[in-house]
Amino acid sequence: MTTVFSEPEAVPVSYVRQYLFCPRVPWFKMVEAFEPPMPSWVEQGKRWHQKQPELQKKRQIQGLQTPYQHQPDAWVESRQYGLYGYADEVLHNSRQAVAVEYKHDKRPPSTAQKLQLIAYLLCLREQYPQHEIWGILYKGGGKKQYRVEIRPDDIERIKQVVQAIRANSQSHLLPESSAQTAQCDQCEYLRYCNDR
Ligand code: SF4
Repeated sequence: MTTVFSEPEAVPVSYVRQYLFCPRVPWFKMVEAFEPPMPSWVEQGKRWHQKQPELQKKRQIQGLQTPYQHQPDAWVESRQYGLYGYADEVLHNSRQAVAVEYKHDKRPPSTAQKLQLIAYLLCLREQYPQHEIWGILYKGGGKKQYRVEIRPDDIERIKQVVQAIRANSQSHLLPESSAQTAQCDQCEYLRYCNDR
């Protein structure tokens, strides 16, 4: 069920991953309300993403009992943690719920990708309080499947990140960033960061 989540301090789950990539990315979106033109590689990634829910129907999730419902672009929210967003897909039956995220790159899951998925799981846990909850991260062509679960350390890290995003959103100063050349080279905001 989609509800209007109007808490002023609520943060989109996708900002958790973006903040961990570079704190300036969510700042550009929240304070400057600015999205740069989409480069071709991002466009390709979006097209790949759109094909995944159909392909997902043919894949098996270990431990998830059939039959289950597929819910692509599933709205989730957590009032406890002040998070909301659309998970790529939620699969659920009467006692289990799985949040699925697709990532186009072929590298092993990054901390930022795992924490984004765990943030979705925190939302899902409020929606399905009696269910067994876990996440699946599909990487590189959807062939590799990584199981992700909620751990207390990760909850603390997500809380810190959400607080930092909120604090940055109150300032008109571009946040400090320790991003290195490898990150900036693949960043859509590079031409707008005049110290890089
Ligand atoms: S160009 Fe570098 S410093 Fe600027 S937002 Fe991107 S990653 Fe951060």
